Amino acid sequence: DYADVLSSDYQIDRKQIQLIELLGDGQFGEVYRGILKTDQQSEINVAIKTCKIQDVTTTETFLDEAYVMQKFYHPHIIKLIGVCTEQPVLLIMELAQLGELRAYLVANRNNFDLLTLVLYCEQLASALAYLESKKFVHRDIAARNALVSSHESVKLADFGLSRQLTLDHSYYKASKGKLPIKWMAPESINFRRFTHLSDVWMFAVCIWEILTMGKKPFQGIPNPDVIDQIENGIRLPLPHINCPKSLYDLMQECWSYEPTNRPNFIQIETRLKLILNQVKTN
Ligand code: ADP
Repeated sequence: DYADVLSSDYQIDRKQIQLIELLGDGQFGEVYRGILKTDQQSEINVAIKTCKIQDVTTTETFLDEAYVMQKFYHPHIIKLIGVCTEQPVLLIMELAQLGELRAYLVANRNNFDLLTLVLYCEQLASALAYLESKKFVHRDIAARNALVSSHESVKLADFGLSRQLTLDHSYYKASKGKLPIKWMAPESINFRRFTHLSDVWMFAVCIWEILTMGKKPFQGIPNPDVIDQIENGIRLPLPHINCPKSLYDLMQECWSYEPTNRPNFIQIETRLKLILNQVKTN
């Protein structure tokens, strides 16, 4: 439990932090594995995000992710532990020991049983049902944004793009920018409309990535052709011969062109629990 190391405003003193090794490159700067020393002289492993550019605007955008993460408390969402707000600004997060989900799937291709893959889907669905209940739209659900804590547990990360929906705006209208077209719902592509139901579409692409053990969706197909295919009713194929029909049926419902024909995350979580039990007893 991190509660004992946190002051009420999540502030962490730079002196409590030690960077150990580079984990990867983020949008704002490098991400490190490091150690956080607590008042009780104990040390915990953490992930530390840094911000390369140190002007006020960049720093504020960088810290936005922290303000978003602060609001969440769920076993399958990476927790924010704290922030260092003195330059260089740092975000201190729960460490996912086994790194990025996609890389983990690719590296362990031959060691996965179907049960574990469906378990990951169910865990991410529970995180997304929680976000839905908090009225948060993630907007960038993909295997690259899920991290592996242990072989039996994955967690949703990367809240850089997520937005809370206000009551009078049931969707978030994004400005133009780099967008993950191959994961996106048609209404997001066409009208930049992002809702819980466009998150549902993206999640089904993420399920496809998990069940293919890390294949890239629509690989080698240029974005404009992907858009044409979606408009013409073409969808990602059955990910694997072992993929239960009930799971592919669910994915296809999530890819309904009309958003209101898609299930919500509460329903998806329930369906995945049933599929998980079905796989267990087979
Ligand atoms: P950004 O959202 O700024 O692009 P990411 O969150 O994708 O940055 O982080 C970049 C990389 O750092 C990830 O791909 C992952 O390898 C690593 N990483 C990020 N957060 C964690 C974490 N909590 N635990 C372990 N590794 C992490």
